[in-house]
Amino acid sequence: MGLMGRAEPALITRRRALQGGVALAAALALPERVLAEAIAPSLIRSRPSLRPGGAPRIGPYRVLAGSLHDHTTDSDGDTASERIAAFLHNYRQDLGIDYCALTDHSDFFPLAYQRDTDAAQAGQPAVVPVPDIWHRQAALAKQYRGEDFSLLRGFEWTNDQENHLNVHFSQNWTSRLGTGDASLRMEPFWDWLNTAPVTDPTGSGLGIGGADGIGIFNHPGDKGALNWDDYGLQKGAAEKMALIEIHGSYGREGRLDSDAGWYWFALSRGWHVSPVMDWDWHMWTADGVMGNTTPGAGYDEGHTFLPGQRSLVLAQNSLPGSIKAALAARRTSATEIPDLWATLRGPGGTWQGGYIQAGPGEKVRLRVDAGSPTEPLQGVEIISDNGLNGSAHYFGDNPDWAANHSQLTISYIEQHRRYIVNGTATRKRLDGGRRHDGPPAGTVVGSAPLTGTRASATIDVTVPRGPSPRPDGRHFFYAIVYAGKSSFPARAWTGPLLTNPHPGAHPDASRSTPAAAPGGLQAPPPPRFAPRPAPLPVPSLARPCGCRL
Ligand SMILES: [Zn+2]
Ligand SMILES: [Zn+2]
Repeated sequence: MGLMGRAEPALITRRRALQGGVALAAALALPERVLAEAIAPSLIRSRPSLRPGGAPRIGPYRVLAGSLHDHTTDSDGDTASERIAAFLHNYRQDLGIDYCALTDHSDFFPLAYQRDTDAAQAGQPAVVPVPDIWHRQAALAKQYRGEDFSLLRGFEWTNDQENHLNVHFSQNWTSRLGTGDASLRMEPFWDWLNTAPVTDPTGSGLGIGGADGIGIFNHPGDKGALNWDDYGLQKGAAEKMALIEIHGSYGREGRLDSDAGWYWFALSRGWHVSPVMDWDWHMWTADGVMGNTTPGAGYDEGHTFLPGQRSLVLAQNSLPGSIKAALAARRTSATEIPDLWATLRGPGGTWQGGYIQAGPGEKVRLRVDAGSPTEPLQGVEIISDNGLNGSAHYFGDNPDWAANHSQLTISYIEQHRRYIVNGTATRKRLDGGRRHDGPPAGTVVGSAPLTGTRASATIDVTVPRGPSPRPDGRHFFYAIVYAGKSSFPARAWTGPLLTNPHPGAHPDASRSTPAAAPGGLQAPPPPRFAPRPAPLPVPSLARPCGCRL
């Protein structure tokens, strides 16, 4: 394919071709395809793009778009990683993406070791090293590394009882087998994530420790009744678990049917997570994605188009180091459509994901920036914990817990029992199968209208006076931006701002046990902007591809 390592085989746009005059001498130095386009106007590409303006700029950052979670034939996807990487790279402008990621189920990785044996049995030289999946994917990722587009490589820890997790940027991988976890609890994995990485002397990558990694809670509510021990906080792991997927139905009709309520819930449990919206794509070939030569013409429209959702990353550029820094700082947002974006800043310009100095009852001025070239902006809501203990709002599956050791909760024991008795994971959803799409009632603490294709708003909110549901006592705020038709909006969620509850003191030295605080709930201000979407029909729980997630 010749797609690796060489200089950018840039699109020649009509404008650039005219500006440059298409000097023959220069053209002769161009790759064959580009040369053909340069000298034959009919071949000049003017392909549609889902994000015509490119990555928006905000402050020192670009709002990079992509997906942090996808599968290949290295686990249960249907297309080779090399082909997927080439496709996404070649169509990056059409798709409006700046990075993509391979995150195969790591319990497939040991299969690679079999290949050595196979080769030997087939009479091929056994001394020829057969790269394992982990290192082969890393080598592939290296070939797509640039300021405008990078391929990332991580893995998906696949535990169908506790639900799945992605880990990015770790030098080692592990699996449920690797951590010796057969006991339906998170501790073995959290131990691995809290251990400094030690290189595997065999070179297979199955080394000890993943403390150099960044974790994602994957598709909340889709796998496993236990949901990471009911989101039971593990302090060390909380430093590494930076992200949570706001998974959703893939189609255009899937709007307003996300897992965004779990974002709120994870924050209320004490995790420091920021939202992302990944594809978790498997069926690249079967669904016709790979054969679509105009993937920028649409999304979610039956087969051949990838979902419209994007994970937005506020980073200097697409190089892995820049993206890693952004993920570690929780500078992400999640959007339901390719070109809607939103960011949140606090006093002093503190970016989303950061901490703001503000005690109970103090006013805080927040700034929201947003854009949506294809669907006009409507407005923004600010969400807070508002002193609310969310347990009662989550299907009765998450009653108050008295300690962080959540395996001892009534909730966990009941979910565990259901898993054993039913034999399948219980999906933790609302009655009727709806996803937990929103935070509990009474948590919208501010709002403002937004109009046009790019806008900003400043919104004053008050830090709740009552105790926080979080073990560290911090309160949190995040924004949801709405665009498009008010009857059926597209949404984007920003990362959170967390308060330092006792200015001057180390925040983590604050209270350690949350108290249920019905008295701490403040009346939200009268909504100036409050889209009230019509109830949607109950969506099918079946995945379009019936695959493994
Ligand atoms: Zn999964
Ligand atoms: Zn997956």
